[in-house]
Amino acid sequence: MYNLLHEPWIPVQRKNKDIPEYISPHRITEAPAAGPVISVAAPRPDFNGALLQFMIGLVQTAYPPESKAVWQEKFIHPPSCEELKAAFLRYADAFYLDGNGPRFMQDHDLVKKEGRQNTVDRLFMEMPGEQTREKNTDHFVKRGTVGTLCPSCCAMALFTLQTNAPAGGRGHRTSLRGGGPLTTFVMGRTLWETIWLNVLPPHVMNRFGNAKKTGMADIFPWMGHIRTSTNNETTTPRQASPLQMFWGMPRRIQLTFEDHTDAAECDLCGCRVHTTVSRYTDKSYGTHYSSGWHHTLSPGTTDPKTGSVRPRLGQPGGFSYRDVPGFIGNCTEREITRRPAVAVQVFREEREPYLADIPGFPFRLLVFGYDMDKMKVRGWQEGSFPLICVGNGIRSAYDAEVSGLVKTADLIAFNVRVSVKKALVMPGATAAGNFSAIDAEFWQDTGPEFYRVVKDVQETLKKGQSLRDLNLQWLAFLTREGMLLFDRYVQPGMIPAGNPGRIARAQKNFLVFSSPYNKQIAKTLGLQNPPAQGQIISGTDLTGTRPDLCEAFISWWSELDTGAGHDRAALRHCRTPREVARTPAFHRLKMRSEMSGLLTPDTITRLAIIAGVLSHVTENKPDKYEPNVNRSFAARLARPPPKRIREKKPCVSGPQFRELLALEDPDSLYTAMIRLVRLLGGSVDIAGLSRGIFQWNKCIKKEWAYAYYAQVPGNETKGV
Ligand SMILES: [Zn+2]
Repeated sequence: MYNLLHEPWIPVQRKNKDIPEYISPHRITEAPAAGPVISVAAPRPDFNGALLQFMIGLVQTAYPPESKAVWQEKFIHPPSCEELKAAFLRYADAFYLDGNGPRFMQDHDLVKKEGRQNTVDRLFMEMPGEQTREKNTDHFVKRGTVGTLCPSCCAMALFTLQTNAPAGGRGHRTSLRGGGPLTTFVMGRTLWETIWLNVLPPHVMNRFGNAKKTGMADIFPWMGHIRTSTNNETTTPRQASPLQMFWGMPRRIQLTFEDHTDAAECDLCGCRVHTTVSRYTDKSYGTHYSSGWHHTLSPGTTDPKTGSVRPRLGQPGGFSYRDVPGFIGNCTEREITRRPAVAVQVFREEREPYLADIPGFPFRLLVFGYDMDKMKVRGWQEGSFPLICVGNGIRSAYDAEVSGLVKTADLIAFNVRVSVKKALVMPGATAAGNFSAIDAEFWQDTGPEFYRVVKDVQETLKKGQSLRDLNLQWLAFLTREGMLLFDRYVQPGMIPAGNPGRIARAQKNFLVFSSPYNKQIAKTLGLQNPPAQGQIISGTDLTGTRPDLCEAFISWWSELDTGAGHDRAALRHCRTPREVARTPAFHRLKMRSEMSGLLTPDTITRLAIIAGVLSHVTENKPDKYEPNVNRSFAARLARPPPKRIREKKPCVSGPQFRELLALEDPDSLYTAMIRLVRLLGGSVDIAGLSRGIFQWNKCIKKEWAYAYYAQVPGNETKGV
């Protein structure tokens, strides 16, 4: 007979080996010179999730740590295979997959009673019903390709179904945690560590069921009279051992084994075996688990009305760092509190402080589950995140800060989506297209930086320093990433398609919303006093030019008329940047700018253009409508020139502005900029003008385009 405690049916990966190996459960701690077992390695990702839960359930049932000290000891020195084998053996009767007695996760009554015959492919979670076949929405298994399974694959499929069972029509009961529950694990460096990190002391387990129920049938429902639910009878945690959470059996199933003289091939893993399964019998109205079951590996949400905790189910869109606060700590949003799995909670409260001294930290958090649409599987979602170890002293401050960072990202993500919609869609019209892709990209793009920032948060908190600068840098980073996404989706380029005015206004709204002056942002990030307008915070400047360079330009310009007074006249006579570069005044500017460390051979020409153009400026006048130096000059071009203020026409028309942005050649740029300065009567914002010329790249041109189109009257944007 095929016993799951004796047979080598668990596919695992050893360190430094490419090919998976099949072992029996007690051999997980076997560490020959070949290397320790590091993970499970099933042919499907959802089977891996199930196998991990099987192993954790088995160790939790047969070999739980009696005390904290025992847990710590066994973490460092795993038990021998013999020790595990002896512990598991006591439960061997419950793990026969075939035979005439009770069978693992099967209903032996079905042998006698009439049940429905099924092909084995229907054991798979997503195996399509008629409707999904028609719509062709099956994900994992190609239709009609699985007809025969080996006992190993069959055991995995059976355990996966009983553990995740979705609603499936009348009398098809869902798993103890509902259809397609979310599961989180703390991951260690080896498979033993991963299992042991999620196994809890009995006194913790006993909170989740009736600890007095210790019989085999109380733990493994198939070992006694099956609790069916024809009249909707429920099974509550009071009526079973807490360990039943790992061995729940909502579906009544009996596998049909076939023996072959010639080995047959398994359609899933490809192995050749003499015993296979291609059919099974089932019957509805299996064990109906009441609400109130709390699985130690599932995060939950607290119902605001009843206060009861429900297990969380899978979700579309996958996981990102946005979900992490609710997976590792309590996290309240709109009255609903997300709670971590008990195993994660115990890890953070008891085990993490102890493990922090072990080299090889940090551990990771693995999250997975199906993305379900009622009874239909849309996909499998999996993600893993670093578990950053923080001391108990700064834990609550750290959690609050991380939650603030995530909430800020949430606000900005929302803002990107809204802004893109505003830019692309006429007001009042319904939005076409899928805007949720923007969200997914935003969370993915900002993830790596998030983990860099939280490390800094930890260091900063340890030193007892203020988090203000870190918060402002995070906000600036999110804004920059949000802008990149906005550009990618709206694709304004330098010559916007669609309605450039609407795009530019949407972009401006995005920046206003994302600024530290937005009350909601300031509150979320704990910025009691936002920085003064125009104050530059290190690491937050979006274009990366240091302010000292602009200061160098302004002070150089203000000295043009001092001394002999020939400098300005000499510069004004220059017809090209090359001629400018030969003047003594230019060399003074160059020496002054070199101190900034920003000059390269490429930028010398730009510097010459600036020197020549600034010689035509008679008044340095920061723009009163646009304080941002990256935009001030272009914004000014959208308004009438001083001498024709009544005509209400912009200095530069739409077509002229596009020509300006298309200029690349230094000589043309030089001439064009001088013409503009003259048009403005010599009165410009020197910082804005010189910064624009100094950078003159895609980035600054985009800023100019946004600034111009946000201010220019509507008729100038027509026909583009
Ligand atoms: Zn197989």
